[in-house]
Amino acid sequence: MSDRIKKAGRHVSQNEGLIFEQSALGKRGIEFPPLDVPAVDARAALGAAYAREGIERFPEVSEIEVIRHFTRLSTWNHAIDLGMYPLGSCTMKYNPRVNEFVSRLDGIATEHPYQPQELSQGCLKILKMLLDCLVEITGMDAGTLEPAAGAQGELTGLLLIRAYLEDTQGQPRKKVLIPDSAHGTNPASAVIAGYEVENVPSDERGQIDIASLKKIVNGNVAAMMVTNPSTLGVFEQNIATAAELLHAHGALLYMDGANMNALAGVARPGDFGVDVMHLNLHKTFSTPHGGGGPGAGPVMVKKILQPYLPIPVLTEKSGRLALENHRLKSIGRVRAFGGNFGVLVRALAYVLAYGPGIRQATEDAVLNANYIRNNLEDVYDLPYKSPSMHEVVFSDARQKKNGVNTTDIAKRLIDYGFHPYTTSFPLIVPGALMIEPTESESKQECDLFVGAMRAIAEEAATNPELVKTAPHSTRVSRLDEVSAARKPILRWRPCPSGPCLR
Ligand SMILES: *Cc1c(COP(=O)(O)O)cnc(C)c1O
Repeated sequence: MSDRIKKAGRHVSQNEGLIFEQSALGKRGIEFPPLDVPAVDARAALGAAYAREGIERFPEVSEIEVIRHFTRLSTWNHAIDLGMYPLGSCTMKYNPRVNEFVSRLDGIATEHPYQPQELSQGCLKILKMLLDCLVEITGMDAGTLEPAAGAQGELTGLLLIRAYLEDTQGQPRKKVLIPDSAHGTNPASAVIAGYEVENVPSDERGQIDIASLKKIVNGNVAAMMVTNPSTLGVFEQNIATAAELLHAHGALLYMDGANMNALAGVARPGDFGVDVMHLNLHKTFSTPHGGGGPGAGPVMVKKILQPYLPIPVLTEKSGRLALENHRLKSIGRVRAFGGNFGVLVRALAYVLAYGPGIRQATEDAVLNANYIRNNLEDVYDLPYKSPSMHEVVFSDARQKKNGVNTTDIAKRLIDYGFHPYTTSFPLIVPGALMIEPTESESKQECDLFVGAMRAIAEEAATNPELVKTAPHSTRVSRLDEVSAARKPILRWRPCPSGPCLR
C-alpha cells in the first residue's frame, strides 16, 4: 500500500459516523445574546405554513465538531489537490489558483447581470477578449459563450446547423452521422435537436472509414459530428477529406472540441474544414470540475453560421460594447444572462497567462500520455496502435484471462492513492482502461502511476483475488452501485435499536 495512504490514515478516521450520530441535546454552534428588541411572532408575520419552531431531528453539535467532521469527510474523496486524477475524457488537470483569485476580484464577482450596460463595459470587455482569443485558438470566425456545458454546446451547434439548412435549403434534412468513436453525448444531442443518428464505423486504426462515409453521405445528411481527437485518444487524420465530402453534399461538419487539450496552440479546427464546434472551458481552460459545478461550452462557428448565433450578441460600436437582442435569424436564447461568467473569466485569465505558451501545455499533455503508454504497453493490451494524443486507451484483455477486469484494476488503483481512470469507455474497446494524465503531472508522478499500474498487472497474474476484492483501504469497499443509483437513501432516520440510515 502506498505511503500516501498510510500517512493519510494517521490523521483521518475512516470510521467516522454521520453528523446525526454526533448530535447531543442542547449543543450549539453559536449562542445569540438575549433579545433587546421586541420579539416578532413569526407565525403571525409569515403565516403558519412558513414559520417553523425547529427542524425535526436536526443534529445538535458544536462549531468545531461540524468543522472537523466535514473537513475529515473531505479527505475521503480523491481530489486533484491530493494526487493524479487520470480520468480519461474528463481532463482533470490542475487549475492555477491565480485564476480563482481573478474570478473573485471586486468588480468581477460583485457585478450584477442586470446592471446597465454603460456600467458593465469592463465585464463585456472580458467576454469580448475571450471570444477573440477563442476565435484565434480555433481558427473559426465567431462564436457564443452562452452554453453552460459541452453537451449544451453540442445542442446549440446542431440547432445552428438546423437553422442554416432551413434558411438556405428550405428544410433541415434528416440525419446526423456520428462515428462509433464519438463521445456519448453526441448522439443524445443530435436526437434532442430532432435528427436521426447514423453510425459511421472506424477502421482498424481507429480512424473514420472514408469508404463507408462515401456510401452513406447524401442529401439527407445535415452534418457529421466528429469528436477530435476521438475517444480513442486518436487524431482523425481523415478529417479534411471528410469535410470536403460533406461540403460537396451540402452538409456541415461539427467538431466536438472537448479534447482541445490535445490541439490548442498546435492545430486549428477552422483550418481543417470544421464549420461549427464547441469547447469545454471547464476541461481545457481552467475551471475545476467533476463535482457537477458550473461549466461553459462556447460554440465557435464559420461565417455562414454567424447570423443564427444565440442572442444576445456582443457588438462593438466606436469603442462601446453592447449586448444586442435584435437578430432576425437567431436561434434565440440558450441560457440566461451571458453564460457562467466566473468560468469565462478563469478561461481568459488562463489563456492570457499562457499566451503562445499554450502550445507547450498541449505538447506536455500529449507527451505525458505517450510516456504512460510506452511504460505500460508491455503489460496491458493496446487495441489501437495509432499515435496517442492526450489520452491512451488500453483494454483488460490480458488480465481477463485471470478473471480480472477493468473495474477491478480501477478499484485497486484507489489503494495505491490514485483516482481510477475511466472504465468501460469508449464502447468500441471492450473492457477499456482510458487514461488521461494531462499536462499537470510531473515525470515523478507519472512514474508513481506507472509503478502502481505495473504492480496491479503483477497482482492480477499472481493474486487475482486481491485485485477482484479491492479497494481495501477505504471505509467501504464495493458498493451495490445499481441500488445506490436506483434506490438512493438520502435521509437519515433513527432506527428503534439506535441510529442508522433508513
Ligand atoms: C466531457 C465531454 C463532453 C460533454 O461535456 P459536458 O460539459 O460534460 O456536457 C462532450 N464530449 C467530450 C469529448 C467530452 O469529453
